[in-house]
Amino acid sequence: MFRLKDKRPHVWGRCSYCDFLNICGANFRVRAEAATGDLWASDPACYLTDDEIGLTQDEKEKVAQEEAEQAL
Ligand code: SF4
Repeated sequence: MFRLKDKRPHVWGRCSYCDFLNICGANFRVRAEAATGDLWASDPACYLTDDEIGLTQDEKEKVAQEEAEQAL
């Protein structure tokens, strides 16, 4: 519960690299948990593209790696 007061240090995936994380706060945690089973996964309903949230190529690769590891 305490971590929900400031979600930013706890989220992983594309939200954790997003240029808008300080504004958005990683959006809707319940939706992330419902879709992935992980409360700290990125919100799957974010409508912004990777380029719009400012992901570099290196960050895109890290996100893909994190998602692949999570799927195991
Ligand atoms: S990726 Fe989308 S949901 Fe996640 S912090 Fe950025 S704007 Fe918010």
